[in-house]
Amino acid sequence: MSMNIYYAIDIGGTKTDAGLIADGKILRRKTTGTPKNPNKCVEWIYSTLEEFTKTQFGTGELDKKSIKAAGIGAPDIRGGGNGGYFEHTVPNLPRWRNFDLKGKLQDLGIPIRAENDTDAAAMAALLFDKYNEAETKRLPFLYITVSTGLGAGLLVADNSGFLRIFRNEDGSHPELAHMEFPGKTSGMKNVRCGCGAVNCLESYAGGKCIEKRYSTRPETAAQKIKDEVAENLGRGLCSMIISYCYYPRYISIGGGIAYGWGASFINKARDILVLNHRMNSCASLPSEIRLCGLGSDVGLLGASAVAMQASGKIADFLNTPIDK
Ligand SMILES: [Zn+2]
Repeated sequence: MSMNIYYAIDIGGTKTDAGLIADGKILRRKTTGTPKNPNKCVEWIYSTLEEFTKTQFGTGELDKKSIKAAGIGAPDIRGGGNGGYFEHTVPNLPRWRNFDLKGKLQDLGIPIRAENDTDAAAMAALLFDKYNEAETKRLPFLYITVSTGLGAGLLVADNSGFLRIFRNEDGSHPELAHMEFPGKTSGMKNVRCGCGAVNCLESYAGGKCIEKRYSTRPETAAQKIKDEVAENLGRGLCSMIISYCYYPRYISIGGGIAYGWGASFINKARDILVLNHRMNSCASLPSEIRLCGLGSDVGLLGASAVAMQASGKIADFLNTPIDK
């Protein structure tokens, strides 16, 4: 029996996860604080794979062949076939700037690919979260993370019907969550987001900006604040859908605030989106908007989806179910 196993690496601003993953199941996992020095992280990635293969397969070199590819998800990494290096905007990690991570991992000897962490999470939500089976393979698919910041990953079909990450012309990750709009708020009227915009979607619904706007941490926010944030999230998503001209069939929402505030928060945002959407009848409505079922595993599973992409296993995803 041959098993397709993927080496997944999820790099975050504070911690890095690595895992061996098969068909969306995490077989092995290890976590470390993200080193300030990227070369230290490279060493950790190599040694962790050695450790995994020993504990997973005994000492047999042969079984290492089951590991088909490696995938990386990270903020501020350039995605796609020519990517794998960090862009100039890495927060908290200045030494990672312009670091060619993919280049440094070539000695793994397997196909390797990197994607922006939100795009990677979007792929995990599409591939591994259980939607209505008959509807599972429908694109476009929008994943939103509502946490310290607010991120969006949009998956679309290319002209041949294959899965494609929606990117900017230059291949960079489009920051869809930063368009300005007039939200409703009882807190501070104008809040400038880290992106430079005043009153963008992140400034209403990202954790850091919620703290600024309402002078309270999301964990201790009153119901009234949660309702306002949900309303602005719904309005912002509605603007996003219409302004980018991609009408997602599914919207999956994850991230710390989404999980902390739960399904009632998501349902409220959905109701507002639907209400606003009816006023723009030219655009079609997503058939499902819900909390992502993958929880905090979404980052690691996302990196495994990127590895599947590296090995060509989801190139024909729309035509061939991946669990075969
Ligand atoms: Zn912004």
